[in-house]
Amino acid sequence: MIDIHAHFLPEISQAEAATVNRERAPWLRIDADGEHGQIMVDEREFRPVYRSLWDADFRVRELDAAGITTQIVCATPIMFGYGWEAARAADWASRMNEKAAAYCAAHPKRLRWLSQVPLQDTALACHEVSAAKRCGAVGVQIGNHVGDRDLDHPELIHFLSHCANDDIPVFVHPWDMMGGGQRMRQWMLPWLVAMPAETQLGMLSLILSGALERLPASLKICFAHGGGSFAYTLGRVDNAWRHRDIVRKDCPNLPSSYARRLHVDSAVFDAGALKLLTDVMGVDRVMLGTDAPFPLGEQQPGALIQSCDFLVPTDQQRLLAGNARSFFGL
Ligand SMILES: [Zn+2]
Repeated sequence: MIDIHAHFLPEISQAEAATVNRERAPWLRIDADGEHGQIMVDEREFRPVYRSLWDADFRVRELDAAGITTQIVCATPIMFGYGWEAARAADWASRMNEKAAAYCAAHPKRLRWLSQVPLQDTALACHEVSAAKRCGAVGVQIGNHVGDRDLDHPELIHFLSHCANDDIPVFVHPWDMMGGGQRMRQWMLPWLVAMPAETQLGMLSLILSGALERLPASLKICFAHGGGSFAYTLGRVDNAWRHRDIVRKDCPNLPSSYARRLHVDSAVFDAGALKLLTDVMGVDRVMLGTDAPFPLGEQQPGALIQSCDFLVPTDQQRLLAGNARSFFGL
């Protein structure tokens, strides 16, 4: 099995975080037992975590137990730094990419990594993504937006074109969720309601803006969490495109016809949802993604795909490994 969606956060000291952005840069506080810890932001506890996040040897033992041959790790989104001053964020991204390479170095067949870039500055982002590729990154992870810029913004289109031209696969992760004020304070609602919407917004931004008409057909782009709300609401989008000219104005073809340009991971946690997803995206464009090592990830990697008898064994193998092999050129 190849798992294309997993996160790491390296050992970052509070002092190191403070050099780039004391109020917003994350750091890692490891408990005395060495097994558990907290992602910290300034003096605030952001999320409880455990050893797999920062310890590659420990993680490979988990991969052995789960039957995962290769896992592609990427930054935990709180590491992105898109809201920071660009030159500092570029320096930070470069250092985090060095840490990602170091994390994977002892297990080059088991762990591969995606780079991160200072996406608020296109020139710096293009420079870093190509530099990271030369250092071994198999692709790049980006957030689905940079402040008010969605993926249809000319600067982000420029970055995606650069990735296509340099043959760098792109993994888009939702982050910095909408509705962050009073209405979603409890029950992880930003993760349960806003994250799927953020991902759908990213996909529709590319489709309805006509950006996919202008981006190179060689662009490899994959969206996390099965594309969030995308597959389930695509019929609604097609219906709107047919009946409202303001939906059609920048998008010359039926929105659903662009699904073949996009990939998604399999993190939907429900057989019916995975059935819909493979019907909408095609069995060639869904890849195993666990979201490890976080509790909202798939606890038994691959179990959902293997439980789906609507997928013949060869299609299950595509989702479990084959599609990832060709998407990331492994
Ligand atoms: Zn994730």
